[in-house]
This record gives sequence, C-alpha cells and structure tokens, in this order.
Amino acid sequence: MKVAVLGGGLTGLTAAYYLAKKNNQVTIFEKSPVLGGLAIGFKQPNWNWHLEKAYHHLFSNDDDIINFAEEIGFDRIFFESPETASLFDDLKIYPMDTPIDFLKLPSLGVFDKLRAGSTLAFLKVSPFLLTFERQTSEQFIKKTMGNRVWKRLWQELFRKKFGNYAGIILASFIWARINKRTKNLGYVEGGFQTFIDYLANRLKSLRVNVLTDYEIKNIKKRGEKHLINNHVFDAVVSTLPTPVLSRLADDIFPAEFLQKFRKLKYLHALTLILETKEPVLEKTYWLNVSSPRIPVMAIVQHTNFIDKKNYGGNHICYLGWYLKREDKLMRMADKDLLSFVRPYLKKLTANELQIKNYFTFKGPFAQPIFDNDFVKNKPDFITPVKNFYVANLDMTYPYDRGTNYAVKLGKQVAGMI
Ligand SMILES: Cc1cc2nc3c(=O)[nH]c(=O)nc-3n(C[C@H](O)[C@H](O)[C@H](O)COP(=O)(O)OP(=O)(O)OC[C@H]3O[C@@H](n4cnc5c(N)ncnc54)[C@H](O)[C@@H]3O)c2cc1C
Repeated sequence: MKVAVLGGGLTGLTAAYYLAKKNNQVTIFEKSPVLGGLAIGFKQPNWNWHLEKAYHHLFSNDDDIINFAEEIGFDRIFFESPETASLFDDLKIYPMDTPIDFLKLPSLGVFDKLRAGSTLAFLKVSPFLLTFERQTSEQFIKKTMGNRVWKRLWQELFRKKFGNYAGIILASFIWARINKRTKNLGYVEGGFQTFIDYLANRLKSLRVNVLTDYEIKNIKKRGEKHLINNHVFDAVVSTLPTPVLSRLADDIFPAEFLQKFRKLKYLHALTLILETKEPVLEKTYWLNVSSPRIPVMAIVQHTNFIDKKNYGGNHICYLGWYLKREDKLMRMADKDLLSFVRPYLKKLTANELQIKNYFTFKGPFAQPIFDNDFVKNKPDFITPVKNFYVANLDMTYPYDRGTNYAVKLGKQVAGMI
C-alpha cells in the first residue's frame, strides 16, 4: 500500500518505521526543514551535543520508547537523578524529591503534610479510576489534601500550567502526573535529535520517502484514494495537531465529526533558552515556580543534569510557559522577552549572568486542556473516512503528552494498516 504519514515528529517517524517494515511504500510530509516536531533539537558551532528547543527528559518507566530504541539498535539513553525543587513566595528553593523533603516544607502543619503525603502515595499506586473524570483536579485536591495544601502547593502551579483553564482540569491529570513521575530521569547522549536522526537513517534504509520543508496545504479524496498536496495514496496517518488537521481536511470529513474537534482547547508552549557563563540555578535541574512573584512556569537548568562541556563550557537554562496565542509574551520580540525576564532572574541568582546567547521556541497546540469537553471529543485512531487514521498527542490522555507516548501511538496506528 502507498501510505502518507503527515508530520515528521516522533509519532510520524515511528509509524513510518513500522509501516515500512510491513512493506508499505511510505512517504512522510514534514513542514519544517528538520525532523523531530516538538522534540526537535538544534546545535551551535561550539557545542558537541544538540539541545532540545523545549526541555526534554524521559522517566525510567517510559518503556515504549526505551524498548523501541533497543529494537532499532540505539543504545545511547542514560538515566540519572538530578534535583527537582519548588520555589515558593519566600523565593527560596525547596527540594521536592523525597518524602523527607516534603516533610521539611515550611508553612504547612504536620497534619496537612500527612494528608497530602497519603494522597500522593495513593495516586502513585492507584490504577486509573473513572472518579478522576468526574471531578476537577482542584476539587480532588481540596477534598483529599485540604484547602491549605491546594493553596500552598498546587494553585499557582495549575494557574501557571493551564492559565484561566486551571479550574476545569480533570483530576485525571493529577493522577497521571503523580502516577508516572520517577526520580530517575533519562536523556539521550548527543541530545534527543541524535535519536531522531538515527531513526531517520533507519527509515532511509527502509526506503521511506522523507519530504522535509514540505508543508501540507490540502487534503482531498478521489474515489477510494487520498490526495495529499495532489500526491495519491491508499492510506493516510495524520500526526498533525488536531486543529491543523481539521483546517486542512474539512473537505473530506463530515461536519459533525469536525464539530467535535472544535470543542477542544489548547495552549501553546513558549521557551526562552539562555546560554550563560554562570548558572541561573546552582544545584536544581527542574524548578517548579509556585510563586506568582516570578511570572514563569518552570525554570530548567539543563546543565545541572547534563554536563556543560557539551555546550562549549556554557550553562543552559530554559524558562518555560504555556500560553494562549494572543498572550503578550507570545507576541514579544526575543530581545523584549529577555528584558521582561531579566529582573526576575536577578531575584533568583546572586550570579552576574553573562548571557552569551538566547533562543526562543514556540510549540503550537502543545498543551491540550484536559477538561470534560476533551474527554468527550478527543480524536481516536479511526476516522469516518476509510483508511484515514489519526495518531497525535491528544491521544496520550490521561497521560500528559511525551515522546514515550508518541512512539507508542506510532506503533499502534501502524498495526492497524
Ligand atoms: C515544552 C515541552 C516540553 C516537553 N517535555 C517533554 C519531556 O520532557 N519528555 C518527553 O518525552 N516529551 C516532552 N514533550 C512532549 C513531546 O515533545 C511530544 O509529546 C512529542 O514530541 C510529540 O510528537 P508528535 O509526533 O506526536 O507531535 P509533533 O512533534 O508535534 O509532530 C507533528 C509534526 O507535524 C508537523 N506539521 C504541522 N503542520 C504541518 C503541515 N501543514 N504540513 C506538514 N507538517 C506539519 C510539525 O512540524 C511537527 O513536526 C514536551 C513538549 C513540550 C512542548
């Protein structure tokens, strides 16, 4: 069969791999000049390793991608335990890696901590329950951990991650977040792009036709066949963001099917990457910013996990946000974004930051909003159009999107063709 794979992120690349293994004639269409999608990396002339445009790591239970890497002969994934911490209103950093760290947190009483601790322990071992879809995360946390814990530990984190959608996020999100997290975090020698490039080479040897810098502008039907920018195929796998697919394929899908997709809500990812002489954070890799005093969602000091020698001896720090498209930060020029964050960085570090370079990245539709509308209307592999399949990051629910699920979805969808 001639199969078109729309999108060259990890879902598309994995789907293409398994489809080609089954002797299909596969073509990947990717609009960017480089494969990788949201996990894409870039390199500076004096760096040995690629760096992701958006911070990336694996969890030690990300079995799908770990097993897939092994299957294709890629053995450059390693695990370590860098520090995770939270920043509260006193602008001090509190490690959050162990139950002891948790017990040391200030301004929460022993009773609150025990209540919160036992709920977290329950979420860690509990299977997914339907009750998590019948209440919001806020309702669940207030009920189980109490109002004070919600206010102190969670409220600001939810606001930072989901903006004014924070109040409608289902409890399934908090279940998945706690259930999945591991202390050990994984990374790829050379950066995730090394894995993507390795996989792309495997695709070449399987004779997959990879078209980069090739934007899909229209999707049509001619009888039983599918037309992608007028190239003819027997079957299609779309890994495009759902709103992009809805726009491109409105000629071929029934109106009531597309109507469901229009009920889905998203935020867009924004990262600002700083390459500096001194680190922003001395010890912490991942800092959840739980204080409204610093208007950033997370600060990720990548070089407290991965050696700075791979980046010309400089430190790498990410600042991350999830925002609506019309947010003023999304529209700022890079230099204005840097000027916006500078005064806040000064509050976090005594180091005189010499910023050698800075980069920004925008990931469209990168964060689906897991609310009631989402559960009812999210896409599935099968569509009303014969031999037209969808596999995209909306389908990782209840888990938050991740490269592990991209690989899993790619393999699953290929198995259906
Ligand atoms: C800020 C951030 C942090 C993350 N952190 C982690 C992490 O720590 N660990 C982890 O495992 N995962 C992480 N992820 C998630 C991970 O990157 C994604 O789940 C995964 O890469 C999704 O792969 P995909 O192929 O499904 O989608 P995408 O990577 O979005 O691929 C879709 C592709 O379609 C292409 N496309 C779109 N429109 C068109 C068009 N018209 N024509 C042709 N091509 C088109 C896009 O360019 C893109 O390459 C993070 C994501 C973000 C945004």
